[in-house]
Amino acid sequence: MAGLAAANHLIKNGVDDFKILEARKRIGGRIVAIPLKNHVVELGANWIHGVLGNPIFEIAMANGLVNIINTPKPHKVIAATEDGKQVPFAILHEIYEAYVCFLRRCEEYFLCQYLPPPDVHSVGEHINLEVAIYLERLPSSEEKKLRRLIFECLLKRETCISGCHSMDEIDLLELGSYAELQGGNIMLPSGYSSILEPMTKKIAPDKILTGYSVIKINWNNGNQHRNSDDGEESDDSDETVIEDITKSSSSYKSINPCEGISSNEPHKQKKKHSNCVEITCENGEIFYANHVICTMPLGILKEEASKLFEPALPNYKMESIDRLLFGTVDKIYLEYERPFLNPDITEIMLLWDSPPNKDDLENTWFRKIYSFSKVTETLLLGWISGKEAEYMETLSNEQVSITCTKILRQFLHDPFVPEPQKCVCTSWRKQKYTRGSYTAIAVGASQSDIEALAQPLYKSVHDKKPVLLFAGEHTHSNFYSTVHGAYLSGRTAAQHILASDQPQEVVLDCPDTTDLSSWIQGIHLEG
Ligand SMILES: Cc1cc2nc3c(=O)[nH]c(=O)nc-3n(C[C@H](O)[C@H](O)[C@H](O)COP(=O)(O)OP(=O)(O)OC[C@H]3O[C@@H](n4cnc5c(N)ncnc54)[C@H](O)[C@@H]3O)c2cc1C
Repeated sequence: MAGLAAANHLIKNGVDDFKILEARKRIGGRIVAIPLKNHVVELGANWIHGVLGNPIFEIAMANGLVNIINTPKPHKVIAATEDGKQVPFAILHEIYEAYVCFLRRCEEYFLCQYLPPPDVHSVGEHINLEVAIYLERLPSSEEKKLRRLIFECLLKRETCISGCHSMDEIDLLELGSYAELQGGNIMLPSGYSSILEPMTKKIAPDKILTGYSVIKINWNNGNQHRNSDDGEESDDSDETVIEDITKSSSSYKSINPCEGISSNEPHKQKKKHSNCVEITCENGEIFYANHVICTMPLGILKEEASKLFEPALPNYKMESIDRLLFGTVDKIYLEYERPFLNPDITEIMLLWDSPPNKDDLENTWFRKIYSFSKVTETLLLGWISGKEAEYMETLSNEQVSITCTKILRQFLHDPFVPEPQKCVCTSWRKQKYTRGSYTAIAVGASQSDIEALAQPLYKSVHDKKPVLLFAGEHTHSNFYSTVHGAYLSGRTAAQHILASDQPQEVVLDCPDTTDLSSWIQGIHLEG
């Protein structure tokens, strides 16, 4: 999304000398859908988080992708224990309210700068402290246990929202740095992936090169080649660098974000393009560009950054990459031939007696699945996070399907729960071009690590424009982990490149959406 957003922003501002290098054979990254037998399911993003001020919502509205007269079905959740007993709704409601209150209190540390209790550093620790106090006042151990299981279930759910293994990993002081947009969560009737059509319609097909995996970004090319080609001593004086840049500007267009000239004969091109960023792809092709926007996910940066960039990224960036978390969150889709669940129920929360055992994931991984929710009457969706999700990624869909059927039979106390006709599990951690699901702020990290990642890099302090820029959800300090965060970061990066060339008014919105934010407030919308 970040790459497409950058491309659209450049096009809107009259710049089209760029290329998008995409490693996969498809575009969309973490926005992707696949067909099952009777459904098309989204493997990545599913919800537009918030309406007001959400550019993705605006694009969806402007392109007729939102069904505003759709009346949402009421959400009826049941919670069941391992012996198949259902928890009274009043208890579920009571604990949910308390939990939301505990979570809001965690968020306040960021917003109000309170000091946390001593030795409490994570959201998990803080919530568990509040849970302990809450349960203490209850007289019977049965009452305590049931409520504790609901809290544990909600914490597992929170790991899927935050993108981590355990809420003990999430920094308490930073939870509130994520900004929620008003308006609830919106689902597009034709699926989140339908947003890719309006995002690509203005980009000429030859601008997007799929199957181009970038393996090297040499962003200080001019200095190195000058030194090595001329056999000179290293000369980092600003004057020489500025001279190189001037030459570059006269032989290329000044805005050229993802590509200059590609070549299979790098030795011939090197001299000519010595001031450009040199981008090498796995297929042997080399590109030269005045500017590069790197939108590779944080998971890739964690694994590859030390080899990918030449010269190495500054230490402050490498340390931020290290500190931030890129957890694993996976989905499990179960598609059935016929409906079998009570039509009034939309979600079954699973209150496991004990948590998964990290030393015995083979026999306990599934205890991390906190619920199955209905997507349609014949499609269920389960979520799983962290080490257990990574373990699940080693199993076949058939193995997961068998386990899920056992779980449903047990918790619904119904041996006739059918086997699904199809089971599909995502494998975001295993994906070579993602290596996880989304960004979270780990204990010890902070919003400033995200800001450090977003910082563009210049060849010299005298340069007006950066050569290497970063975008992607992991670079948005308030909307990290979301599609709209990725979108806005891509637009910001493109804007950096445009900035000093275009002091005149810059076109920010797509033409069809100009006044949308203001009139949308008058429409009643529910997720
Ligand atoms: C299971 C799941 C559910 C989610 N649900 C939601 C949701 O409901 N709402 C929401 O807002 N967000 C959701 N998200 C998050 C959202 O999908 C991402 O935040 C967003 O799509 C990220 O966009 P991006 O451009 O930063 O990265 P990506 O979409 O990952 O794009 C990065 C691109 O870089 C490419 N790439 C990687 N390495 C290379 C390389 N070496 N060379 C060339 N190309 C490379 C990748 O193939 C990819 O296309 C979800 C994510 C997951 C995994």
